[in-house]
Amino acid sequence: MSDLRTELVEAGLLFPTGVDGVLGRSAMFETVLEQVNKAVSGWGREAKAEAVHFPPVMSRTQLERNGYLKSFPQLAAELHGCITPPPGSEPDAAVSQTGLMMVPAACYPIYPMLASRGALAADGALFDIYSWCFRHEPSIEPARLQSFRMHEYVRVGRPSDVAAFRESWMKMAAEIYQSLRLPHELIVSNDAFFGRSGRLMASSQRERNLKFELVVPVNNEREPTACCSFNYAEAHFTEAWDIRMSDGSHAHSACVGFGMERTTLALFRHHGLDPERWPADVRSVLFQS
Ligand code: AMP
Ligand code: ZN
Repeated sequence: MSDLRTELVEAGLLFPTGVDGVLGRSAMFETVLEQVNKAVSGWGREAKAEAVHFPPVMSRTQLERNGYLKSFPQLAAELHGCITPPPGSEPDAAVSQTGLMMVPAACYPIYPMLASRGALAADGALFDIYSWCFRHEPSIEPARLQSFRMHEYVRVGRPSDVAAFRESWMKMAAEIYQSLRLPHELIVSNDAFFGRSGRLMASSQRERNLKFELVVPVNNEREPTACCSFNYAEAHFTEAWDIRMSDGSHAHSACVGFGMERTTLALFRHHGLDPERWPADVRSVLFQS
């Protein structure tokens, strides 16, 4: 397989910025990505998900409470001012803390918002959330970005409802990739938890089938790329935020995250660099509206 990044750059679909994992995109790339997003959004509307929007930054304290800084400190990024103080000035003026971090996954800001609403309804909640995300994992591969977009559906509620949500979305997501004629497979996976205790967490997550990924060959056939993830968090976030059902028990939560750039890249990889020449059925899914 030829080098996808070089092909996309030469075709004018992606623009290098000089920083690995930070790529500019052409109008055509964005058009395809937006159409993929519309296809994903259609399923959310049918499921009557509540759409909410947050900026790509969030409170450090909240991200800490979500457990992110313990589990993935290697991926996290904090924002601070960059005043260079004049020589001899107070050291306090050197760095101004903003108290903000980059959002690493679209679902993180949902939990503090939900906690502020009080007890959950008996049938729980379902959110549709779309956000720019940041992870400090610089790479030359176009499918491993530092700054990318994620469209997520987050279900919070009774354990049986949350498990059923994840099951049904695994089927629906597979149908979306099927309709886009992208070869795909569902596999058990794990997150890149940090450090030695992280390895234990990763193997327990895997053994307990808490994370599935829908993978598509993007960079190469040997290591297909996760384009969509199905994460069952059990009561991890709801205990952190004390989100309870009306009977007092902690709710469970799960999220389904579509990687927008990865799915778009998969389309260019499998159907060619000119969307006008893509198979008619794929074009009708993407460009019908
Ligand atoms: P995760 O929260 O790790 O399960 O990620 C959810 C989805 O976001 C994945 O299935 C990918 O499609 C996408 N994603 C995760 N990390 C990256 C990255 N570094 N670059 C591009 N897309 C990513
Ligand atoms: Zn999530």
